[in-house]
Amino acid sequence: MALLEEPIKQPLELKNFIGGEMVRSRGEMQDVINPATGKLVARVPISTREEVEQAIEAAKEAYPEWRATPPLARARCLFRLKELLEAHFEELSRIQTMEHGKTIDEARGETRRGIENVEVATGIPTLMMGYNLEDIASGIDEYVIRQPLGVFGIISPFNFPLMIPLWFAPYAVATGNCIIIKPSPETPISQVKLAELTEEAGFPPGVWNVVHGEREVVSAMLDHPDIKGVCFVGSTPVARDVIYKRCGETGKRVIAQGGAKNFALIMPDASLDDTVAACLTSCFGNAGQRCLAIANVVVVGEGLSQAEFDDFYRRFVDAFVAAASKIRIGYGLDDTVQMGPVRSPTRKEKIIAYIEKGITEGATLRLDGRKPTIVGDYPDTCFLGPTIFEDVTPDMTIAREEIFGPVATVIKAGSFNEALDMIHSNPFGNATSIFTRSGRWAREFQYRVQCGNVGINVGIAAPIAFFPFSGMKESFFGILHGQGMEAIRFFTESKVVIQRWF
Ligand code: NAD
Repeated sequence: MALLEEPIKQPLELKNFIGGEMVRSRGEMQDVINPATGKLVARVPISTREEVEQAIEAAKEAYPEWRATPPLARARCLFRLKELLEAHFEELSRIQTMEHGKTIDEARGETRRGIENVEVATGIPTLMMGYNLEDIASGIDEYVIRQPLGVFGIISPFNFPLMIPLWFAPYAVATGNCIIIKPSPETPISQVKLAELTEEAGFPPGVWNVVHGEREVVSAMLDHPDIKGVCFVGSTPVARDVIYKRCGETGKRVIAQGGAKNFALIMPDASLDDTVAACLTSCFGNAGQRCLAIANVVVVGEGLSQAEFDDFYRRFVDAFVAAASKIRIGYGLDDTVQMGPVRSPTRKEKIIAYIEKGITEGATLRLDGRKPTIVGDYPDTCFLGPTIFEDVTPDMTIAREEIFGPVATVIKAGSFNEALDMIHSNPFGNATSIFTRSGRWAREFQYRVQCGNVGINVGIAAPIAFFPFSGMKESFFGILHGQGMEAIRFFTESKVVIQRWF
């Protein structure tokens, strides 16, 4: 066992970052506990409405000058931020492990994905260009320019504390807007570190702000007329009923990404070894706390006799259970560990309640993660092992609802169409995968499936920074998405100019 050095030695007293300064909040402080060790890593303020308003004021004040800063000069701040993120890569990754529980490899992957968005946004001088057409009538030209809107709010969930705000923030500031990020109070530390780096990178005071807290902070952003748009990632009830609804009422732009319940289809011609390996990472990576995680694995018997189907199903389930039972569970800073804890005791209890529900509803518990073996001497408050149910039907609670933990169900479908119906009868539409060697089934799947992020022989369909992070049905509310060109369009409005030349 090789435990990496912890970058946080003493519990941090986190502050808000407003107008280029770290400001102590008047709000109550809440503990941030390392879910693996049970130790206090930080105390985070639950900020007040007035504090959000101060941040909005600071952002509003910074906006005119920042907007008028040439795109290349804004890009230079992003180039410097990228360099600083590289220089602090390991520290930032270890902070994520300490605040969230994910393994160091998962945290490094998250940091890399975050940096990629900063890299893409450095291309702003070309990404933000408009277009023109001369002689729309005799001696008259017409052109479109893209302009920033002002101040945006970015609200993050707990599960990717560094990366998710970076789906939006680099594009928002590159296009000339100012931002206020509200991290999850469960995992607020990496956003404070990031804010420090933006200052070092030369972003003027007020362009990039961080305000910690909960509902009051969000509600203050939603109510404020100077917030022009909101990017939210979190659970569906908040995305739909709070963010999307209120932004509609107040006329703000909105990206509201919600929860997920993702299905993978295993077709009979799929490579068993590759599929099992992909399902392992997808179902149990990040301890299942990932909106792209596969939760329902559907073994499809298309074209097989009953005996062949039974044999195929049995071989898949046995191999999946055998591989999952070998996953090493422990503190993510031990680099031999493959799965960390879930975020909190409350989250663990909720996941266990789902496991119990699965048993009550008649599914067969093939691998029980409720009492896992932990590598190292750590309290078992937040640890769970991989859990696999079989004999699951799509109407069972464990197959319908988002569990957000390391729990996978295996379901049988006699045909491709039956499997597709299962996906479509579920309210979510975030991500899905198919495992097959057949071009026909792959094409049919990507053409018909109603999910935003589709994997073909890929277990985690995570779009890279050039592409939009999509979602459909109850998983996404809005039109444009975070990342890449769509983010540029979200953070700008098109102005059309018609000019007659005298
Ligand atoms: P959450 O909805 O509880 O919280 C998300 C954010 O909203 C946090 O910052 C939280 O403080 C705030 N919040 C919570 N309740 C609120 C309320 N009533 N009013 C205003 N703000 C509120 O989500 P979470 O538990 O932090 O994250 C897990 C969820 O996020 C899962 O459902 C997961 O699927 C989803 N998620 C989705 C994506 C995606 O891309 N679609 C990505 C990551 C996570």
